[in-house]
Amino acid sequence: MSNRLHVHPVGDLIVHDTETDDCVCGPGMRPVKRDDGSVGWLVTHHSLDGREKQENPA
Ligand SMILES: [Zn+2]
Repeated sequence: MSNRLHVHPVGDLIVHDTETDDCVCGPGMRPVKRDDGSVGWLVTHHSLDGREKQENPA
C-alpha cells in the first residue's frame, strides 16, 4: 500500500509520474498526518504551463 497522495494538475502539457516521486516537474513533498495517526506524504506536482503564476491578481 502506498503512503503517497499525489496532487497534480489535470490536463497539463506533460504526463506526471504518480507512481514514483521522480516526476519531471520536481514535485514538492510534505508529511501529512492521517486520522489513524500514521504519517503519509502529500506529493504536490507543478504544472509546466505556468498556470500558478496567473493566480496573482492584478
Ligand atoms: Zn509531476
